Amino acid sequence: MLAARCPSCDYVYDVETGDEHEGFAAGTAWADIPQDWCCPDCGVREKVDFVPLARADA
Ligand SMILES: [Zn+2]
Repeated sequence: MLAARCPSCDYVYDVETGDEHEGFAAGTAWADIPQDWCCPDCGVREKVDFVPLARADA
């Protein structure tokens, strides 16, 4: 999986760019994101709730 979207607020985690504000360097695989990580935008949804995205949809 190369990207994933929060079902609540449409925040998208993109593996290629990572999220430096969250401490994930560019290229950090989705599999390496902690299971208890919460969406940085809404803080409501956890990793397991995120919806997988095909790269072309991002
Ligand atoms: Zn969210």
